[in-house]
Amino acid sequence: MILGSTRRSAPPVSFRDALLRGLAPDGGLYLPTSWPSVPSDVISSWRGLPIGEIAVRVLTHLVGEEFDRTAFADLVRDAFDFPAPTVPLDDGVSVLELFHGPTLAFKDFGARFLARIFGYLLDERGDHATILVATSGDTGSAVAQGFFGVPRVQVVVLYPGGKVSRFQEAQMATLGGNIRALRVPGTFDDCQRLVKRAFLDDSLAGLHLSSANSINIGRLLPQTVYYFASWLAVGGIDAGDVVFSVPSGNLGNLTAGVIAQRLGLPVGRFVAACNTNDVLPEYLTTGAYRARPATPTLSNAMDVGDPSNFPRLAQVHGEALAALRANILGVSVSEDDTRRTIGETYRTRRYVLDPHGAVGVAAAVRVQKETGERRPIIALATAHPAKFADVLREELGFEPPLPEPWRDWASRPVKAHDLPDVSYATFRAYLLQ
Ligand SMILES: *Cc1c(COP(=O)(O)O)cnc(C)c1O
Repeated sequence: MILGSTRRSAPPVSFRDALLRGLAPDGGLYLPTSWPSVPSDVISSWRGLPIGEIAVRVLTHLVGEEFDRTAFADLVRDAFDFPAPTVPLDDGVSVLELFHGPTLAFKDFGARFLARIFGYLLDERGDHATILVATSGDTGSAVAQGFFGVPRVQVVVLYPGGKVSRFQEAQMATLGGNIRALRVPGTFDDCQRLVKRAFLDDSLAGLHLSSANSINIGRLLPQTVYYFASWLAVGGIDAGDVVFSVPSGNLGNLTAGVIAQRLGLPVGRFVAACNTNDVLPEYLTTGAYRARPATPTLSNAMDVGDPSNFPRLAQVHGEALAALRANILGVSVSEDDTRRTIGETYRTRRYVLDPHGAVGVAAAVRVQKETGERRPIIALATAHPAKFADVLREELGFEPPLPEPWRDWASRPVKAHDLPDVSYATFRAYLLQ
């Protein structure tokens, strides 16, 4: 696969190189320059396969030629070792559950694949690396869990002490092994400043510092897989064209869906389901892209005021507003509507949605009502409801239980190292010790 930069002034690279670089040297984002399509009868023949096997087929088709076939298939199966069921909800709406991975959110798909492919490349070169991540909570936990136990990689996660939830801290700081959690006596911005400075510090070259940035193409491509799996689950060729309602923030998930469509998946259109941070819906309506600070909402992983994957989404549509409008319907869902959807879905269907999934379902229902959409709609549920105990107690009167592996999280010992101050000298000394 050949990838180019969205800014078009960096040379094209292989998937491997795009993966190792993260950002293109011109500051753009890597995107494939062509779409090797899969015939729909081939896609149909995957019906009934577990998601790990669908993943092997989709990802081998995309980038397999750059890797040893057997080793690649093994690492893909290992990355996709948890299910992504599609559950029928109501009158043509289904929910694609993406929260059965280790951190109970869909970012596990990208993080686990990136970790394993990274480990593969290091192994091949007999090399090692140190991944630095600054986090305000969710990204750090997906990266920590994703890279846990991957040989040749050390991960250092910096998080602001007292400013992440206790559950998030348990997800990043109780692992040990190759995951070092660093509790910083400051803010997320302090964490980010330390990481950025370390990347520019030549005296740390021996550590082979790297990032597992969310804009890495290695996190995006694996997210195409569950779109295939879900289309097959709702009937495949019998279902015909489907509509996906995608709870959106930085637009990575939505872009992955559009890539699946470019590869030949029969998708009629997408609904970009946003909370009140509605930069994309506004752009689709007015044609003006207006970045602005995000406002906090219940679906906080979607509180984004300048979505980082917008250049990719635009480029996949040939930078043409008309093409974007034809393929994507933007919907902004209010906080009240999100709460009402959680309540109503439970009362009428006994199905518990988290606030992100609720935005997706609310947008799907609105599109059915307002446009008369009759094709099957699949709404993505991106986080497990148990992660949002407070909102669910308010709306439903109870807290959904955490899945079994996390029941004892509160009693797991936190193994974080406390950084004594936020100076770069202190951080550097810690890295070198
Ligand atoms: C990151 C995230 C989103 C938004 O996904 P994007 O790819 O950034 O659009 C939605 N829901 C949850 C739970 C997330 O963690």
